Amino acid sequence: MSRTMHVAVVEQLGHPLALQEWAVPDPGPGQILIKTEACGVCHTDLHAARGDWPVKPAPPFIPGHEGIGVVVAIGADVTRVKEGDRVGVPWLYSACGHCEHCLSGWETVCAEAQFGGYTRNGGFAEFILADPSYVAHIPDGLSAAAAAPIICAGVTTYKGLKQTGARPGEWVAISGVGGLGHLAIQYAKAMGLKVCAIDIDLAKLEHARRLGADAVVDAKDGGCGAAVMRATDGGAHGVLITATSLDAFAEGIAMTRTRGTCVLVGLPPGDFPIPLFDVVARCLTVRGSFVGTRQDMAEALAFAADGKVKADIELQPLAAINDVFARLGRGDVASRVVLDFHALA
Ligand code: NAD
Ligand code: ZN
Ligand code: ZN
Repeated sequence: MSRTMHVAVVEQLGHPLALQEWAVPDPGPGQILIKTEACGVCHTDLHAARGDWPVKPAPPFIPGHEGIGVVVAIGADVTRVKEGDRVGVPWLYSACGHCEHCLSGWETVCAEAQFGGYTRNGGFAEFILADPSYVAHIPDGLSAAAAAPIICAGVTTYKGLKQTGARPGEWVAISGVGGLGHLAIQYAKAMGLKVCAIDIDLAKLEHARRLGADAVVDAKDGGCGAAVMRATDGGAHGVLITATSLDAFAEGIAMTRTRGTCVLVGLPPGDFPIPLFDVVARCLTVRGSFVGTRQDMAEALAFAADGKVKADIELQPLAAINDVFARLGRGDVASRVVLDFHALA
């Protein structure tokens, strides 16, 4: 029996997504098929559809790497997941499992890794094919819509905060209070850190306060590095940049405390100059951080299942995706839009 599914497809980079009906794929050996319940819309999906990054995805492809659903079919040789399990299909779609990075718990940087919604079709679809070894296992009690933002925005910021090395009682500065940043604030508070939140949008800074930020700084007029230095008594021990503008990156280094760590997570296209003298003479660490491992994922989901972190979500139907992308591009999404597939039923 051939069934069809609604999908949103990038047919050409930089063009609106096409709403189409595709045949529901069959899971091959070692694959599982998931019926999507919800899928978050990450700014990365917008970068993907525009072709913003040096390594571009190949159209036609289905974006989406925060898809959550129920396993409805399993291929041959699948043992770790069974029909009826609720899982998520994250950015780290699969990895080789055997290279030096995979063997040392760094599968996120495996050279053979595949990426959900980028090199493999993702969650802007009623069904998703996935690799059972890399899906996220959603704890009982967490709804699909509540879990969706955790499997990218949540795990990425949780891991990024760990990579700052900041310890309880110390300051972290979180630059960008969007989908990633609003969860970063909550993870940081749950980890016992003091939070200074930075954005260019006053409504987002008010939201940051409600989420527990101890200080907020408006970056609209530039020069916020010095303001964060003052607000944090000499600089943040850890800085996490989730902002989508390059200006935020140079400011991020300026707000890092001497011997502190600035973690780069946001990925606006382009480069930014590193103030070499400052980094050398103040012994700063500047490091990138890329999503999180399967272990980070389990930990990030546990915070959400325990009620310590809760995504603020706005539900929209799949058919609204182009409007959602337009709003995301102009900073007009409060926190996270989650596509609700029940709306299609
Ligand atoms: P978003 O659009 O929801 O949030 C971005 C926020 O940055 C907005 O609140 C915006 O107002 C704010 N901002 C813009 N310019 C700023 C400035 N100069 N200073 C401070 N804040 C500023 O986007 P998102 O979904 O949270 O994604 C953020 C970025 O993180 C994207 O570039 C995305 O591709 C990237 N990302 C990286 C990883 C990773 O593994 N490294 C994972 C997921 C997303
Ligand atoms: Zn993402
Ligand atoms: Zn590998």
